[in-house]
Amino acid sequence: MPQYDYDLFVIGAGSGGVRAARVAAGYGAKVAIAEESRVGGTCVIRGCVPKKLLSYAAHFHEDFEDARNYGWTVGEATFDWATLIANKDKEIDRLNGIYKKLLAGSKVELLESRAVIVDPHTVEVGGKRVTAKNLLIAVGGWPERPQIPGIEHSITSNEAFHLQSLPKEIIVVGGGYIAVEFAGIFNGLGAKVTELYRGEQILRGFDDEVRHFLAAEMAKKGIAIRTHADVARIDKSGARLNVTLKDGAVLACDAIMYATGRRPKTDGLGLAEVGVTLKESGAIAVDAASQTAVPSIHAIGDCTDRVNLTPVAIREGHAYADSVFGSRSWAVDHKTIASAVFSHPPVGVVGLSEAAARGEGRALDIYKADFKPLKHTISGRDERTLMKLVVDRQSQVVLGAHMVGIDAPEIIQAIAIAVKMGATKQQFDAAVAVHPTAAEEFVTLRTPVAAG
Ligand code: NDP
Repeated sequence: MPQYDYDLFVIGAGSGGVRAARVAAGYGAKVAIAEESRVGGTCVIRGCVPKKLLSYAAHFHEDFEDARNYGWTVGEATFDWATLIANKDKEIDRLNGIYKKLLAGSKVELLESRAVIVDPHTVEVGGKRVTAKNLLIAVGGWPERPQIPGIEHSITSNEAFHLQSLPKEIIVVGGGYIAVEFAGIFNGLGAKVTELYRGEQILRGFDDEVRHFLAAEMAKKGIAIRTHADVARIDKSGARLNVTLKDGAVLACDAIMYATGRRPKTDGLGLAEVGVTLKESGAIAVDAASQTAVPSIHAIGDCTDRVNLTPVAIREGHAYADSVFGSRSWAVDHKTIASAVFSHPPVGVVGLSEAAARGEGRALDIYKADFKPLKHTISGRDERTLMKLVVDRQSQVVLGAHMVGIDAPEIIQAIAIAVKMGATKQQFDAAVAVHPTAAEEFVTLRTPVAAG
C-alpha cells in the first residue's frame, strides 16, 4: 500500500471545495486544500454575495421614491459608491475569515498557493510536491470575453466590484444572469445603462414570457436593451470609450462590462497531461459520481460545467465526501433545480419552461397571473408581477413555476419543494392562500390561459 501525505487534496477553496474538504475531514480523513486567490471562491469573493449586496444598494433608489405616496417626506437622496464598496469589502473580508476559521476548525490544512497536478496522486504546491490518495478539483470558472479589437478596455464582473467610481454611462454586453443583474445594479445606482445582446431576447433558455416580461420591466426602469447587437470593436477616446457595433452604430460610454459567459478555470493545471478528459470548453468530463477519467481524481462545481450554481457545487462536494470518505454513497440529482436572477425586478424559476415542456411532446395547461403588486397600487410605480405555472394536462403535475417580480427568489424557493416532489395542480390548489401576498397567486390560479 502506498503511503500518501494526505487522504484528500482539494484544489480550489470555493463553496464546493470547502464543503468537500470539511465533510471529508469530519470522517477522519487527512485533508489539505490549496487556494491561489482568496478562500471563499467566486460566490463569496466576486459573485453571488457581493452582487446581492450591490443589488440591495440599487433598490434603495426606488424605495425612496416609493415612500412618498405612503406619506414619507424623504430628503434629497445622494449615493456614494466608495462607501458602498468599502462596506461590501468589509463584509467579504468577514466572510473570508469565517471560511478560513471553518477550515481550521475542521482540521483542514489550508495552503494559500496555486497547486498543479503532477501525477494522479501528486500535486506541486508552494514549491514542493505533496501526495494524496485522492485529488478533488474544484477550481471554478473565470469570465470569458470575445477577442475583439479593444477588448482590453472592457471590464468583467470581477472588476465591476472594485471600480474607483460609478460610471455615468455604462454598456453591459450579454444577456445572461450576470449581464441582466449588473444592468439592474448600475441602473438602480444612477448610471445610464445600455445592455447589448446578440440574440432575439435576453435570458435565452428561460421561459419566453419571463424573458419578454423582464425585458419590458427593465426598459420601464430606464435600461436600454438593444437586441441583435454585436460589438465589433472598442476604441478609447480620452476618458470615454467608443463602442462600434457590427451594424456600424457607434455608442459612447464611460465603461463597458462584458458578461459573455464563464470558462472553467482548468488551463495549466496539468489535467490533460495526467489523463483527465477535458471538453472543448475546458470543462472537466466527470461521471455521476464526479469521477474523472483518472480514478483518483474527481471534480466538482463550475469547472465541470454541469449546473453552474453555488448550491449545486456544495452538494456535489458533499456527495463526493460522503461517498468516498463516509458510509453513504449518493449522487446529485441535477434535475429540477430552482434558480433566481437578481435582476430588477428579480426572476425565480423552477422546472420546465413552456417551450421545453412542449418540446417533450406534452399537452399542457398554462396558468398565468400578470398583476400590479399591492405595494405599487399606492406607490404609483408602474411595475408588474408575472407568475406562471406549466402543468402537464394528463397527469396534472406542475412541471414548471416561473415568476418575475418582488420577492420572486424567496417565493420560488418554497415552490421548488412542491415542484421537486412532483405536486399536481390540485395539490397546489389544496394549499389555502396566505393573504395578502403575491405568493398566494401560485395556489389560486383558476383557469388555464392557453392549451397546447
Ligand atoms: P451566461 O452563460 O448565463 O450568459 C452569457 C451571455 O453572453 C449570453 O447571453 C450569451 O448569448 C452571451 N454571449 C456569449 N458569448 C458571446 C459573445 N462572443 N458575444 C456576445 N455575447 C455573447 O453567462 P453569465 O456570464 O451571465 O453567467 C455565468 C454563469 O454563472 C451562469 O450561467 C450561471 O450559471 C451562473 N450565475 C448564476 C447566478 C444566479 O444564480 N443568480 C448569477 C450569476 C451567474 P447567447 O444567449 O446568444 O448564447
